[in-house]
Amino acid sequence: MKLTDLSEIKSLMDRHSVMFKKKYGQNFLISPTIPERIADAAVSGMPEGARGILEIGPGIGTLTQSLAERADKVVALEIDESLIPILDETLANFNNVKIINQDVMKTDLAELCKTEFGSEFRLSVAANLPYYITTPILMKLVESGVGFDSITVMVQKEVASRLCAAPGTPDYGAITAVLAYYGRCERLFTVPSGCFVPAPKVDSAVVRLNLYKTPEISVADPDELFRVIRGAFAQRRKTLSNSLLTEYSSLGRDIVNDAIRSSGYEPSVRGEALSCADFARIADYFTAIKAEKSENK
Ligand code: SAM
Repeated sequence: MKLTDLSEIKSLMDRHSVMFKKKYGQNFLISPTIPERIADAAVSGMPEGARGILEIGPGIGTLTQSLAERADKVVALEIDESLIPILDETLANFNNVKIINQDVMKTDLAELCKTEFGSEFRLSVAANLPYYITTPILMKLVESGVGFDSITVMVQKEVASRLCAAPGTPDYGAITAVLAYYGRCERLFTVPSGCFVPAPKVDSAVVRLNLYKTPEISVADPDELFRVIRGAFAQRRKTLSNSLLTEYSSLGRDIVNDAIRSSGYEPSVRGEALSCADFARIADYFTAIKAEKSENK
């Protein structure tokens, strides 16, 4: 069965009385080459015989098939129960795929990966992400503690620009700086909206986040770093001094300004100018001040 053929998809879905569900961000791939290119990127660099892939949202199994042809084991989480009988049919020829009817956001990923892959596999993620929860899923993946080699995902084109933006550019934001702590993001290729059914309003792009085994940015307390980044971007139009003062009002302006200077910038700088490593210097300053204060209590 050719899953990228529109009439075959329609007859498959009709036969199973299944409709596209907008609430789950269901835009299925109908390009014959894009699933192969995503799957190639997902397994690239992984050793043969130990290629484990976690897929989020297999839909009717289009990308899953390409992944199963390249990986040693694929585990796919699909929230929509009505798609499971379809997946059973479209993936029947693969004995290295396991479909789990589960919401990724309600899944303990570390536990799942331990159970499904054990210690024999290297792990990477591949997905054509449901656009309504792109950022929460990415955050969940990087915070999972699983130690994925990489995360290859299709996202809206604008989101791809944001994820891969350099400091000081208009697309750079909190998510860019946070992800830079976990890995290096590369934009692979653009995918026109006509490659999906139903066609979304905007084009998409595939990005690959190459995760660090150990963080390249050293910071005393990563949670403090994430708090600084959150504070820095909460009010984009304000100076970094004013934005951080809102988040760290208990420390006062002088300390906030000294913290910013410790990163090599003036307090009047805007948050988008700073890299993740710059934010880490500010976070370390706050961590040290807090430790000093609690010692003097
Ligand atoms: N992988 C398929 C493809 O490329 O054609 C489908 C991609 S579609 C953009 C997103 C898929 O994610 C849908 O199948 C949808 O039901 C599923 N999905 C949405 N929210 C989910 C969640 N929270 N957990 C797991 N799957 C989810």
